[in-house]
Amino acid sequence: MQIQTLFQYQSPLGVPIEIKKQTFAPAAGRPAKRISFVAGLHGDEWEGLYICHLLSRYLQDLEETHAESFVGEINIYPAANPQAVCDGTRLTPFFSVDANRSFGAGRSDSLPESVASDLFEDIRSSSDFAVDIHSSNQRLLELPQIRIVEEFDLSLTPLASECNVDIVWVHPMAGVFRSTLAYNLNKARVPALVVETGICLRIHPEFCRQVFHGLVRLMRHVGILKADDPLEFQTKKPRVVYPHEVGSLQAGKSGLFVHQMKLGQSVREGEKAGEIIDPIQGRVLEEIRFPFNGTLFTVCENPIAYEGAPLARAALDSPARK
Ligand SMILES: [Zn+2]
Repeated sequence: MQIQTLFQYQSPLGVPIEIKKQTFAPAAGRPAKRISFVAGLHGDEWEGLYICHLLSRYLQDLEETHAESFVGEINIYPAANPQAVCDGTRLTPFFSVDANRSFGAGRSDSLPESVASDLFEDIRSSSDFAVDIHSSNQRLLELPQIRIVEEFDLSLTPLASECNVDIVWVHPMAGVFRSTLAYNLNKARVPALVVETGICLRIHPEFCRQVFHGLVRLMRHVGILKADDPLEFQTKKPRVVYPHEVGSLQAGKSGLFVHQMKLGQSVREGEKAGEIIDPIQGRVLEEIRFPFNGTLFTVCENPIAYEGAPLARAALDSPARK
């Protein structure tokens, strides 16, 4: 394994920004295929950093014991936005820019856009496949899942189905995705999966191990690793859901949301999910009940709820008609 410093920029905050990349080369000859794993574009999402660590440890051991397993090239960008990772912030410090909304614009006078442009070019030119790993925001806890914009369904869903996640969610396009890393890689014909797992500012080791197993399976599936190492891996097949198969639970009032929902829980229509309370007046503002039968793959972790805020999402048992 080699570690290289891809770029070094001077930050307005005084410290140099260095983006590092680990590369595992094939045992012999040219790589059959190349894959890149990216984490930390959002600096407060640390589950991806841990998944990259698990991958790197596994691959380093494999290099020592089964070097012939490497038929392709593996690149790991474990902290793609180091300044934000060090600060534990979603946005790049000083600029208050979302690094994963900075792709596709090309180089400009803006430092974050220039960094995004150079990073994109490095990933695009060294990848036949890519995986961008994220956690949720501060509000929502997510079961390990892969999200796919509908137009890439046919090329990405078979790959995502190898990744040992619980859910593959094929969702409609929205303008906000146009400037993301994965959307631009897919447009540049590098199939790129987006993993969402856990919640920001936390690490869920069991979720991370689940995704790590899936990413090793993916590398075997696309012919980057030979499957001759002795380690056994989990083999969960995800449920693939389309927009009409996803149910959403939202707050009708603003207040504190108190609930006992659990990720992965099977719920019935009419069942109580929790209540929104007003601690100032000592009143229950709203009793929240599920409007669907399904399995929860997103639950609200932050009790502060505003009217219309998402409280849970479920893969529906009996999908409504499109
Ligand atoms: Zn993110």
